[in-house]
Amino acid sequence: APRKYYEYLHSLNDKQREAACSDVAVPLMIVAGPGSGKTSTMVGRVLTLLKEGIPPSNILAMTFTTAAASEMRDRIGAVVGKAVAKEIIISTFHSFCLQLCRTHAEKLGRTSEFIIYGHGQQRRAIIEAERLLEHGKSDGLGDAVKQQYDGDIKHSFKDKAKKWLKFVTQAKSSGQTPEEYEKKGDLTGASILRHYNEILVSCNALDYHDFINSSITLLTKFPEVYKECQNTWQAIVVDEFQDTSAMQYFLLKLLASHNHITIVGDDDQSIFSFNGADVSGFDSFRRDFPNHKEIRLNKNYRSTRAIVEAATALIHNNTKRCNHKLAETDNPSGSKITVKECHSEDSQCAFVIDKIIETTSSSAEGRDFGKIAVLYRRQITGKAFQVSFRNRKIPFNVHGVAFYRKKAIKAIMAILRTTLPGCDDGPWRQALKTLLPGDKEEKKKIIDHVEKISLARKCSFISAATDIFSAKVSGTFKRTQITQGRKVLSTLYSLSKFVEREQSVSAVISSAGNMLPQQYLLEKRAVIDNDGGKLLNEDNDIRSVLQFLMDDVSDFLSTHFSSSGDANQTEEKGCTATLKAFIDYISLRETENFRSRKEENKNSITLTTIHQSKGLEWDVVFIVQANDSEIPLLHEYNGTVKEAGCTLEEERRLFYVAMTRARKKLYILHVTVDSHRQLLLPSRFLREIPGHLFDIQGEGPATKYHEQPSGDISFDHAEGETSTEKPIVNQNETSPYPELMQSCLANDFLKRFEIDDRAVVSHIFHHWAKRQ
Ligand code: ATP
Ligand code: MG
Repeated sequence: APRKYYEYLHSLNDKQREAACSDVAVPLMIVAGPGSGKTSTMVGRVLTLLKEGIPPSNILAMTFTTAAASEMRDRIGAVVGKAVAKEIIISTFHSFCLQLCRTHAEKLGRTSEFIIYGHGQQRRAIIEAERLLEHGKSDGLGDAVKQQYDGDIKHSFKDKAKKWLKFVTQAKSSGQTPEEYEKKGDLTGASILRHYNEILVSCNALDYHDFINSSITLLTKFPEVYKECQNTWQAIVVDEFQDTSAMQYFLLKLLASHNHITIVGDDDQSIFSFNGADVSGFDSFRRDFPNHKEIRLNKNYRSTRAIVEAATALIHNNTKRCNHKLAETDNPSGSKITVKECHSEDSQCAFVIDKIIETTSSSAEGRDFGKIAVLYRRQITGKAFQVSFRNRKIPFNVHGVAFYRKKAIKAIMAILRTTLPGCDDGPWRQALKTLLPGDKEEKKKIIDHVEKISLARKCSFISAATDIFSAKVSGTFKRTQITQGRKVLSTLYSLSKFVEREQSVSAVISSAGNMLPQQYLLEKRAVIDNDGGKLLNEDNDIRSVLQFLMDDVSDFLSTHFSSSGDANQTEEKGCTATLKAFIDYISLRETENFRSRKEENKNSITLTTIHQSKGLEWDVVFIVQANDSEIPLLHEYNGTVKEAGCTLEEERRLFYVAMTRARKKLYILHVTVDSHRQLLLPSRFLREIPGHLFDIQGEGPATKYHEQPSGDISFDHAEGETSTEKPIVNQNETSPYPELMQSCLANDFLKRFEIDDRAVVSHIFHHWAKRQ
């Protein structure tokens, strides 16, 4: 619909329109700050590609999360209609590459049924690789992997193995081969990597890094694949380019040798370097596509001036910024940012709830919770909010909950996998482990026995199990165990028959869910128990887990198949194919930790980690637990910046992303004492926000952020920390803190304050602040 297209263009500003309409044959790079309409422009770009006659199924749009992908599909659909929007391949790097690997699996030494190794299986493979390294040749390759399919690997995962996992991850994310390590003289590293890869081949598996690397292999080593991709992907657009890893960039470069590529990003929002994200991609793009066009967008449409100014002041403290960007806004200055000091995590929750009630009460059609988000650095912080919200009956959606890592989900997925033709040992083993009655020890004995038989007879796990349970092979089991085993197998077989008979995918999944034994209803997590067992019981209810999965199915079907109903779709693709695709879809979700949008109630508060909040926006945003040690994330109280948290500059970017999610009102909360009664300081980033932009609300004596000393006594400065704004410190005083305060902080023992001591410290703070 050309009219709608022009209407869309009309809604853009001049610069945005120029970008959206620029020559599709010239590579385009859009670099701009948060809220400047990058994603909106990218939608316009896709619309232009369609208008230029590129068929929708030949357009590839890369987004960082599945949620962003469906958001984009909706926005495009609003202009060109749902049917056209559905044909465009809008996907994350991972799901795109997974698809490519499945199509050409045999070229990678796998079958198209290969399994995806998540963190658990990766760890097992590492342990096995390490074992092979230490004991030389092994008689049963992958033994450890097989034996403890879902054992308590976490506890046995030793430091050394952890180190190797990190090594392998690093090697893979930089695309290094064992041969390259050999050349460098790192023979041990080379063999670990080689063993690990061999284990994956022998288990018909790929891990998440393999998706990207193997796709590159396919494109570089197989000219026919390259040609096919060139023909298929006539135009490529990439959002959130700053979070593209070097390997992903390399892949893009291969795919986009036709030059029909648009990249969109903001180096200041690069927050995934622990995943290998690499901002130097912008420079590589400039180099690799010399005839490219570059467009900057300078106007922030999202946030009030107060928020834009505060965020800009903060990010100016980063020295390693590669693209100079202006941040202006025509929006009103809005209300000041509220910085709130809370005495405990409980009072932090209480404050947020009070403000939520206050903000939402004014509207006539009930409360509008959908415009509010609570952001935190670590998942664990979100739990307390879930409890409080639930108690106060405030609706919420949790992003970043480790939903897909739940035992129940894993078990259902294993059961589903057994219904697919060519399913290998892993899922069968896990399904039996789940479904056989008896305690852990009893099950283990049976599984071990099946394992032994399968090794001895060189047959698959399932045929060994079938023989045992049909009493063809003698074992030391009780009669009842044999009968029970037979029952389990027949249930599984009938589910496969169900699939073969092309039943609806939803029906198959709910049957699988209903097979789970009682104890899955009572799935507990350590965190929950520490909280007094009151948290998430309803989440752990198998019915709600199943309900969530069902929502995923309908979300999945409506996104990936042209009809939204289950019935028509089976004709189109077949239940087996759909189920396979669904299992992949869920496996990818696990990497993202992101639940589908469908099941989300639109009128709910969003609870999410800052990482997952990327690209999104809300009227009111609470950044909670903004403490030094939390953001920037520190290993321990007196530690340096956590390795995984990368540099201080990245932590600052993370805070920047968090602040710039807010449209109208931003609250930043920090607590003074954590649940272990440890004294906490406010985030050092608060000092980088100009004082006139925020209001401080304390509980008791106010903390003067700007008067905190720059010479931290409790934290080591990580490299890269440069504060342009000099804190006001009394120069005559050798230490900015009074002696007692200093010794309190320096003394490990006293760090664990009793409540009364905390009051003393607070008093000293107050006293000190007054003297300045
Ligand atoms: P981020 O860096 O956070 O991903 P972004 O640059 O992608 O942000 P968008 O999400 O595209 O920004 O846009 C931010 C907000 O500004 C959206 O609500 C969008 O509708 C609005 N917006 C974008 N461009 C315009 C415009 N020209 N006029 C009015 N509003 C606009
Ligand atoms: Mg965006």
